[in-house]
Amino acid sequence: DDMDVGTIWLDGEFVDWADAQVHVLSHGLHYGTGVFEGVRCYDTDRGPAIFRWGDHLDRLYASGAPYEIEIPYEREELTDATLELLDREDLDSAYIRPIAFYGYDMLGLNPGDCPVTTAIAAWPWGAYLGEEALEVGVDVSISSWRKYKSDQIPTNAKTTGPYVNSVLANLEATRDGYDEALLLNADGQVAEGPGENLFLVRDGEIHTPGLAESNLDGITRRSVIEVAENLGYTVHDDATVSRGELYTADELFFSGTAAEVTPIATVDDTPIGSGSKGPITDEIQQRFFEIVETGEPAEWFTYLE
Ligand code: PMP
Repeated sequence: DDMDVGTIWLDGEFVDWADAQVHVLSHGLHYGTGVFEGVRCYDTDRGPAIFRWGDHLDRLYASGAPYEIEIPYEREELTDATLELLDREDLDSAYIRPIAFYGYDMLGLNPGDCPVTTAIAAWPWGAYLGEEALEVGVDVSISSWRKYKSDQIPTNAKTTGPYVNSVLANLEATRDGYDEALLLNADGQVAEGPGENLFLVRDGEIHTPGLAESNLDGITRRSVIEVAENLGYTVHDDATVSRGELYTADELFFSGTAAEVTPIATVDDTPIGSGSKGPITDEIQQRFFEIVETGEPAEWFTYLE
């Protein structure tokens, strides 16, 4: 197991993997009251560098707000801890998982005086949906589970508990032989993947379902929008995308820290466009990988050295 070696940063200390433990009566375990991030460090031409660390930190602190989770560490402390962790673990390329959750004080729903436990782990992680998927695309199915709306659970926060929705969708899809799910929202409009935002290409222009109702403000999504615009494409942040638009799109792709830029080959066994990676997806994916290989633009990277 890639993850069971080395060190984890836990509440200010670097502890051995086996000692990074919390109490079974932790509030966050019972009620999912935690916030987390998924971040990548790339082995760039300018040395190891964390991709858009500042934006991930912003989202981590902001995610805590609705739950009154106040992370008891400053940005500099979490940054230094992460840089030192990568250095100690000798990781040039890694997936980084910061998490903060209510620990144990009592188990009423109101977290009251529960302390906030904060941890950071890092481990090597390749292409989330597989190397091959980056070339030929993934097969997705429309989930029978709907993505919750932002008046049910804040969808602009990355909270641990609500990921049961993503787990259900991914389990169903993979059980049925697909690579990944695609969720509609409560209104039946297209939302996102269990851990990915969605993009559509139609008539040479790019569309992505907006953030208002049900989608996470993905940092890769923001990057893809910027990359596509810099390549000269028009990007539409659509209020709604209907299910039907998926099947008639010229190309579809996912974006996410784990999934990076992954083409979607089929939706419910229906080929999208050529049924493989489309040319505009390819161009955006190439530019994305060029950025994380070169470690430029500098404002998107926190370099280790
Ligand atoms: N949507 C969901 C539900 C996610 O879990 C993720 C992964 N964090 C994303 C979208 C993509 O966000 P990002 O690009 O910031 O990783």
